[in-house]
Amino acid sequence: MSRILIIEDEKEIAELERDYLEVNDFEVVIESKGNTGLARALEEKFDLMILDLMLPGIDGFEICRKIRETQNIPILMVSAKKDDVDKIRGLGLGADDYITKPFSPSELVARVKAHLKRYKRLVESGTEKRKSVVEIRGIKIDKDSRQVFVEGVEKTLTAKEFDTLAFLAQHPNRVFTKEELFEEIWGMEAYGDVATVAVYIKKIREKIETNSSNPKIIETIWGVGYRFKV
Ligand code: CA
Repeated sequence: MSRILIIEDEKEIAELERDYLEVNDFEVVIESKGNTGLARALEEKFDLMILDLMLPGIDGFEICRKIRETQNIPILMVSAKKDDVDKIRGLGLGADDYITKPFSPSELVARVKAHLKRYKRLVESGTEKRKSVVEIRGIKIDKDSRQVFVEGVEKTLTAKEFDTLAFLAQHPNRVFTKEELFEEIWGMEAYGDVATVAVYIKKIREKIETNSSNPKIIETIWGVGYRFKV
């Protein structure tokens, strides 16, 4: 069960957040003051934090900064003003997401889940000693030098093309939806169009497939998404 720390001085909001999260099987701890909240965040182990910006004692900006010195758990910042979002971004505190009050609790839960999923993947990929070179079906992908070779011939891919190809090749035969690929490569902060994924897949195919109009490596699974076929 994931543990979530809520640092929020408005009791009603904190309890509303807690209730929705508990219904979704999260363990929730509430702290209402900046200093006690920060102390707890540093002493105990949490999987995610929901952090209000304006707090008595130490404010959310400072708490976020302090936590980022030692931890990389997802931090969702909650603010009462739209303007604050620009400030949070501008300060580069390392918050993962921002929600403006009033927000819908189900939206909050959805974001919490998405961030936890992402974080889990990040932790797993960091611990399981990823191989830096993937060789599959005549395609060699070197993730350190970010080079791609097809039958020994180097191909030039853009950064996003490379990320997309490397991700698919690391999970051979697994089908990913456009949405999953978009979230993986472009990240949560991107509000772009998932249709972009199709454009990138097309460009990658032109570079790695023998006949890009009849792709044999990156397959389209109609109505679902794409997979790197082995
Ligand atoms: Ca507040």
